[in-house]
Order: sequence, then structure tokens, then C-alpha cells
Amino acid sequence: MADLARLRENLASVRGRIRAASRASGRSEDAVRHVAVTKTVDADAVRALYDLRERDFGESRAQEGVPKAEALGLPAVRWHFIGHLQRRKVKRVLPLFGAVHSLDSLLLAEEMDRTARQLERTVDVFIEVKTSEETGKTGLDPKLLPELVEAVSKMEGLCLQGLMTMAPFFEEPVKTRPYFARLRGLKDEVSRRTGVALPELSMGMTNDFEAAIAEGATVVRIGTALFQGVLG
Ligand SMILES: *Cc1c(COP(=O)(O)O)cnc(C)c1O
Repeated sequence: MADLARLRENLASVRGRIRAASRASGRSEDAVRHVAVTKTVDADAVRALYDLRERDFGESRAQEGVPKAEALGLPAVRWHFIGHLQRRKVKRVLPLFGAVHSLDSLLLAEEMDRTARQLERTVDVFIEVKTSEETGKTGLDPKLLPELVEAVSKMEGLCLQGLMTMAPFFEEPVKTRPYFARLRGLKDEVSRRTGVALPELSMGMTNDFEAAIAEGATVVRIGTALFQGVLG
């Protein structure tokens, strides 16, 4: 059973820290939204967050996220797919997920576009960019970004929101700032070159979201900080 008092406290703390970091970066208190990352968390805890007025939830694996979103069936919720998405999972994922933060290839974009048009809707997408060598295999090589931005911007089924990245883990979160600064720089450079607006930057997790906000994040993806001490 989830500890509801603790969940409420954690959520208030996360919201407060996001507001404070937004103000410190010279932006308004509501400039940065958060996605509550519910991977590995059971349905009861997600429902408890919903009762606390959370509406944006993130899952990183189709196998776990699709059945969970389906079973919960919460009204007015937006599910965000944040992990690596295999092309063969697109048809399962898109009917339930309104946003995908991990678009990293033209072939995946084409499959998502086709599926979205079949569903007669659009999917909000973020292109995931590799800003470091350390963070594994996922994410697009920045050199290929202008080309993918141009292609996605022409796809009717996809609504390009902006860019996403993950920084390597550091004990001292301030050390993540160069990676987030890199993504912001890429966004400015690529939107200038292509003429495509990229308003959103999805960057920052529990360990580094304040650093990401300082570098211009508009969406942070938070799991651990919400559920610490909550799950029994
Ligand atoms: C798990 C995950 C998060 C949330 O990480 P926490 O450290 O638990 O806040 C954010 N983004 C992605 C892509 C993830 O896989």
C-alpha cells in the first residue's frame, strides 16, 4: 500500500523545487512542467497521484506502460512515452500515449506518422539527442538533427515539440549543466538553420532537474523524487 501522506509531501516538494528553479532562471513560476515517471510503480500509486491532480505520466517500456495505462483508464490523462521505442511496438503504444520523448530515427518517425494518421490524430514528439558518450546507445547523433527535424516537421501525424536529452549521472548535479546547455545550443542552431520552431526542451530527472531548468528545460521527467519512501 502506498504511503499517501509521504506521496503528497514528495509532490509538494518537487513542485516547490521546480517553481524555485524556474524563478532562479528568470522565468515565471509555471514555465516548467513535469511528467511524473511511473515506471515500476503500481496502479494504486498512480491513481493516488491522479487524485493529487497529476495529469502527465511517463512510462519507458511498452510492455509495462501499455497495460498499465489501459487498465487505469484515467480520464484527461496524458501518457508520455520516454524510453527507447521499437518500431514494432508503435501500433501498441500510440493509441494510449499522447507524447513520445524518444524519437531518434527517421524510420521510427515514419512508422509513428503512419500509425498516427491511421488513428486520425497527431502525436506530440520530442527528438532525443545524444549529448554525451556515456549515456548508452539511445539518442540521435547531433549531426543528423537538422535532417530529421526537417523531415518530421513535414509529417502530418506528428507534432514536433522540441528536443530531449539525458545527461550522464554525476554525484554533483551541477556537472550535468554542460550537457543541457549543449541541447539548448543545438535547439537554437537547428531552428535557425531549418526555420522549424523547437519550443520545448525535455531534460532533467530527479538527480539533475534543477541544473536542467537553469539551462532552459521546459519539461522535466521525475520519478524517484516522487516515490521515495512511498511504496511499501
Ligand atoms: C526513469 C526515467 C526518468 C525518471 O528518472 P528519476 O531519476 O527516477 O527521476 C526520466 N527520464 C527517463 C527517460 C527515464 O527512463
